[in-house]
Amino acid sequence: MSVFDQHRIEPGKKVDLRKMETDGKDLPVSREQCEQKFRAQREEMIELQERLYAEGKQKLLVVFQAIDAGGKDGTIRAVFRGVNPQGVTVTAFKRPTEEELAHDFLWRVHNAVPAAGTIGVFNRSHYEDVLVVRVHKLVPESVWKPRYEQINDFERMLANSGTTIVKFFLHISKKEQKQRLQERLDDPAKRWKFDRTDLDKRKLWDGYRDAFEDMLEKCSTTSAPWYVIPADQNWYRDFAVCSIITETLQGMAPKYPKPEDLSDVRIDD
Ligand code: ATP
Ligand code: MG
Repeated sequence: MSVFDQHRIEPGKKVDLRKMETDGKDLPVSREQCEQKFRAQREEMIELQERLYAEGKQKLLVVFQAIDAGGKDGTIRAVFRGVNPQGVTVTAFKRPTEEELAHDFLWRVHNAVPAAGTIGVFNRSHYEDVLVVRVHKLVPESVWKPRYEQINDFERMLANSGTTIVKFFLHISKKEQKQRLQERLDDPAKRWKFDRTDLDKRKLWDGYRDAFEDMLEKCSTTSAPWYVIPADQNWYRDFAVCSIITETLQGMAPKYPKPEDLSDVRIDD
């Protein structure tokens, strides 16, 4: 089974995150194999991105969600290193501004989806509106509950308009999160990432797990599948994410535009 199939959530499948691997060490691949394959695959992904950009027709949307310190930033840094920056936009979705809150929840998201020929990367996304918003009761259930369907409709519309969508949930253990938050406290170079509110969110771990499970169960569709990536080890996480993006791009099969016949062209001295 390829990495592609192994981590994909089939539409309608029941998800129990407690039973799903967070640790790359227990998987049947070694660190050396993953690191080697990762570098080769990234080269291939870079080549495919160049074609996507030159072709200028299709779009790829890559969504990342995870608990705090789950590794979204690190994955984006590692996987997209070396791509042509003109063809990739990364959008980090933070707490909505007043203007954003005055609109429907998809307003700011729709504005950030990739244009033809480009890859759009979402660091957090519209899923925050059924995660943090649900767990912290920022809106009543009658408001967040219909959002799963609204999200599926929105993603179907994007898919029908030429956007291929892949969504990654970076799955880390509670123990690993503790270690990473501790590192942010201990290492002066990482201290800027420490956010006291992450500790309040950690106390709501089980509520977040329920919300993540619902998101995965209700919103993994054929046109916009979710992948759950064991993410305690960066080397497995980066390898798996890069493999899936590369295979997705292969499936999109972008082509350089057919060279025009320019045999009559002469360039003056
Ligand atoms: P890192 O993981 O590196 O700390 P981050 O993604 O947590 O980065 P921050 O600026 O620390 O970035 O936090 C962004 C915060 O915005 C998160 O706590 C997230 O839950 C919150 N957020 C994002 N979207 C929404 C939303 N729609 N409603 C409320 N809060 C949101
Ligand atoms: Mg944070």
